[in-house]
Amino acid sequence: MEKDFDSYAIVNAHIVKSYLDGNFYDGIVVVNGRVLYVGNSDVAKLIARQHGLEVIDKKGLFLLPGFIDAHLHVESLGITLKTLSLSSVSSIEELVSLLKKKIQDDKPRIVVGRGWDHERFVEKRMPTAKDLDRASRDIPIVLSRVCGHVVVVNSVVLETLRDELQKFPDSYVPRSENGLPIGLLFEDAGYLAWNYASSFLDKKVVLREALNHLVSLGITSVGWMSVNESQLNLLAELNSFSSTYSRLYLYIEDNLLEKGVYYKTMFSGSDKITVNGVKLFADGSLGARTAYLSEDYSDKPGWRGVLLLDENKIVDKASMAIQIGLQPAVHAIGDEAIRHVIKAYRRINAGEYAARIEHVSLAPPDIVESLAKLKLIAVVQPRFVVSDWWAGQRLGERVRYLYPFRTMLARGVRMAFSTDAPVEPANPWLTVQAAENNREEEKLRRAEALYLYTEGSAIALRRRDIGKLEPGYKADFIITNFNPFTLPNDYLPEARVLETYVGGRKVYPAQ
Ligand SMILES: [Zn+2]
Repeated sequence: MEKDFDSYAIVNAHIVKSYLDGNFYDGIVVVNGRVLYVGNSDVAKLIARQHGLEVIDKKGLFLLPGFIDAHLHVESLGITLKTLSLSSVSSIEELVSLLKKKIQDDKPRIVVGRGWDHERFVEKRMPTAKDLDRASRDIPIVLSRVCGHVVVVNSVVLETLRDELQKFPDSYVPRSENGLPIGLLFEDAGYLAWNYASSFLDKKVVLREALNHLVSLGITSVGWMSVNESQLNLLAELNSFSSTYSRLYLYIEDNLLEKGVYYKTMFSGSDKITVNGVKLFADGSLGARTAYLSEDYSDKPGWRGVLLLDENKIVDKASMAIQIGLQPAVHAIGDEAIRHVIKAYRRINAGEYAARIEHVSLAPPDIVESLAKLKLIAVVQPRFVVSDWWAGQRLGERVRYLYPFRTMLARGVRMAFSTDAPVEPANPWLTVQAAENNREEEKLRRAEALYLYTEGSAIALRRRDIGKLEPGYKADFIITNFNPFTLPNDYLPEARVLETYVGGRKVYPAQ
C-alpha cells in the first residue's frame, strides 16, 4: 500500500494552535491534509488507532502554524537567488577580480550580479563598462546597484542593446564626449538591461529555486504580487517540475484585469494555486522620492512625489476587480496616496471585500482611524523599518508617523505581515525581529508579530482555513527545536525551521 503522507498523528510535541492562545498542546491528528484534532497525545493516539493511522513521536519539538507572507515577488526572488551577490565588495578592483574568477570557474553564458554600492568602494565612484571589460569582452556582464535603479554593463551588452539604448537621453544613458554610452544605465534603461539578462535564465529553474527557498524558511503560503502573463503560463505547468511548494495566492498585474475571469478559471482545479486579486500602484517609493506626500519632501522643497492612480481611477479598477471576485491590493506609501486609496475604497464599500493597501508606510492618525473604521487591510513590511533608516531625511518631523505598527494594532486596524522579498530577505524571523525592534512606542510583542504573520496574513489572503491549527484548518505547519515565544530577540536571525509541511505533506527538507 502506498504510504499516506497526508494522514497521521503526531504526539509528544509542543503544539501552538494559534498565537492568540498562549497554550501548548501535545498531540495533533491530520487527516487528508487537514487538522482533525489538536489536544493531548493520548486522545491523538486513540484516534490514530481507530483510523489506522501512523503515530509519529516528535520528542518534545515545537510544532507551529506555518508562516504566511502576504506580499512578495516569487520570480524576482528566484532571480536574486541565482545572481552573484556584490553587497560586500569594497572596491572596483575587487569587483573586477571577482568577475574574472566567476568567469574562469563557471564559464557562464552571462554574469548577472546585484547589490554593488559605490559608497562602499574605496574609489568612491560607480564602475563603468571600461572596468567590466577588464573581466570580459565577450561574456555579457550585467550588475545592478543595491537600490535597483542603476545597472552597469560591459561593452558586449552595450553593443547588443545599442538600438534600444539610443532612444534614451543622457540622463538615463550617460555618454562620454565621443557620444558612446559609458556603461551606466539608469531607471528604464537599467530595466531594459536587467530584462535582457534575466532572459538568459531558465524560468523554471528560477521558480523552483525560489519555491524551495520559501519552504526552507517555513513559509507555507504567500501572496505573490504583480504576477504577469508569462508567469501565469509557467505556473499552469508548475506541477510538472515541482511538487514541494507553498500555497500561492496570486495578485495579477493591472493590465491583466480584463482577463481576470479567464485566469481565475485557469487555476480553479488547483488546491495550491489561486488567482486571488489584482495589484495596483497609487504611488512610488520614499527612496526614489516618488511616494506621494501631502507636503513637500524635507530634502526636496517644492516636490511631493508622484500620484500614479487617483481616487477616481482606483474606484474604477477596484470595483471592476470586485465584480469579478478579485481582491484589490493597492500599493500606497505616501500619506496622500494612502488617502486617495482610502477615499476610493470608502466609495465602493471595499472593506466588505477585504480590500488591501500595500505598505501603508506614512500613516498619521487620520489614516489609522479610517483604516480601522473601514475595515481595510494594511499589508506591512516590518523590515522596511531597518532598511529605511534614512527616512528622516525625506520626511523630517513626519517620520514619527512612519510604520506605526503598535498604533495600528491598538486602534484595531486589520494588519498582515510580509517581506516584499526580494526587496527584503524572505526569512520570517528577521521580520519578527524588526517588528520587535521598531522605535519604542511602536514596537510589537513576539506573540503579536507571530499572530500577524499567520492569522493576520491569512485574513489578507481572504482564507479562513489557514493561519492556525484548529480542526478543519489545512495542516500547514513547521517544526522547530526552540520555543518561538521565548527565543531571545538577538537569536532570531539564526533561527531555522527543521521541517515544513503543506497540507500535511512534508515539503522541507526534500524527501
Ligand atoms: Zn512588492
